Amino acid sequence: MLRGASLRITRPRIAVLAAVYEHPHADTHSLIGLVRDELGEVSQQAVYDVLNALTDAGLVRRLHPPGSVARYESRVGDNHHHVVCRSCGSIADVECAVGPAPCLNASEDHGFVIDEAEVIYWGLCPECSGKGSLA
Ligand SMILES: [Zn+2]
Ligand SMILES: [Zn+2]
Repeated sequence: MLRGASLRITRPRIAVLAAVYEHPHADTHSLIGLVRDELGEVSQQAVYDVLNALTDAGLVRRLHPPGSVARYESRVGDNHHHVVCRSCGSIADVECAVGPAPCLNASEDHGFVIDEAEVIYWGLCPECSGKGSLA
């Protein structure tokens, strides 16, 4: 994957990419922990740099719900959405309702050429709403 994106292959890049694949929607802090478990001492800055490079190359997607820290996931290019718990911040994927990214058909585009739509559904996760056992 790194080679396909013309990125030099380094151990931190491989470790960060693997961590994002195994832990969708992980925040930077937990990714640093995961990479350190794998490689030993790695600077925070190195992990930030790798995440930026992978995001710029389109290998991972950064999502940044308002009021939350940035999170990363490996599902790129399918324009799926997210549901975020207001209480604990847990995040889950929500598929687009029908077809390829219908949300790109904005009711009013104001003359913009639109290439991405991001919808965040806010609410309470099953644990936080106390309905976990009923779901
Ligand atoms: Zn919750
Ligand atoms: Zn997602």
